[in-house]
Amino acid sequence: MLVLYSTVLLSILGFAFGTFLAYSAKKFEVKEDPRVEMIKEVLSGANCGACGYAGCEAYAKAVVAGKATYDMCIPGRPSGVADKIKEIMQKNAPN
Ligand code: SF4
Repeated sequence: MLVLYSTVLLSILGFAFGTFLAYSAKKFEVKEDPRVEMIKEVLSGANCGACGYAGCEAYAKAVVAGKATYDMCIPGRPSGVADKIKEIMQKNAPN
């Protein structure tokens, strides 16, 4: 009988904590500007740090925050990354 009670109790606790975690994840979700992901997709993705940031994601976030210019990705210069970033920023500007 003790095994049955333990199983039921652990099942109830598991369900309760799972529900709480699911609710918390939704409630405290951090929404990221979709332009960050769009810019990351056009960057060369080398994560080399030549732009002065820790990686491509950090650079994309800095561009969206207005803290970096569009032409700082050195490996992306030959493929026109700066123009692509400019286009993303202009077409998807917040209203
Ligand atoms: S220079 Fe370009 S490829 Fe290198 S980390 Fe910066 S954004 Fe990424």
